[in-house]
Amino acid sequence: SAMHIVKQYKIVSRESHRANTVIDIGGIPLGGNQIQVIAGPCSVETQEQMDLSAKFVHEAGCRMMRGGAFKPRTSPYAFQGKGKEGLDMFRKAAGPYKLPIVTELMDVRQIDVFMEYDVDVIQIGTRNMQNFDLLKEVGRINKPVILKRGMSATISEWLMSAEYIAAGGNHNIIFCERGIRTFETAYRNVLDVTAIPVLKKETHLPVIVDPSHAGGKAWMVPTLSQAAIAAGADGLLVEMHPSPCDAWCDADQALTPQELKNLMGKLGAIAGAVGRSL
Ligand code: PEP
Ligand code: MN
Repeated sequence: SAMHIVKQYKIVSRESHRANTVIDIGGIPLGGNQIQVIAGPCSVETQEQMDLSAKFVHEAGCRMMRGGAFKPRTSPYAFQGKGKEGLDMFRKAAGPYKLPIVTELMDVRQIDVFMEYDVDVIQIGTRNMQNFDLLKEVGRINKPVILKRGMSATISEWLMSAEYIAAGGNHNIIFCERGIRTFETAYRNVLDVTAIPVLKKETHLPVIVDPSHAGGKAWMVPTLSQAAIAAGADGLLVEMHPSPCDAWCDADQALTPQELKNLMGKLGAIAGAVGRSL
């Protein structure tokens, strides 16, 4: 049968696929009834920091871990990430807990090393949401992709970026709202909660929220997380550091291990209220 899809984005559109897509990440479902919280440090620093992080992520009840080895920094003089060595530390740390790893890909030249370390989920950061050549390349890889929203990207531009990935054959795409830039300066970015129901209507793909880069302060993270789950997000991407004040990057927004545990405790009730599990 033939289906005429009028929208510019076709594969990712709900018109082409009515049911929610559930993405399998090393046996963990994302996009189904169960909410997934991906936690970990902003960046990979040392083996000890990663080992501790993995332990705390696991103890808090999270099933996936984040951490950047290649970092997009505003200043060229700021810490740029540990690179390949960082992926090695991340793999070693996550291994004992069987935590799938989520890490940012900035350049097509890093794809081989990502495959070598069998990265479970490729994160495309805000600054690369419209790096179309990068999107085309991840479209050819058989790995789930978290596509973060561009700093000032419209929903339609974001959906089109996902379509670039999907057009290459990779349909395992997860949207991540991480706050947008507005006139407001009291917080890092404005969490666009409205984007959650709008995306859920427009696409069958999972939608997660990064409350850490949205608020930019650790104390805002629990409230924004609760709002995200209440609004229908399928998961969260949260920054946690074993010792936030020592973090090499994004120290202000990192939760302590105890704060992550507390957050997981609170989210269960919100998840239950909207018919989801945690
Ligand atoms: C990150 O998740 O570490 C990151 C750099 O986020 P964003 O691309 O949303 O700024
Ligand atoms: Mn960060």
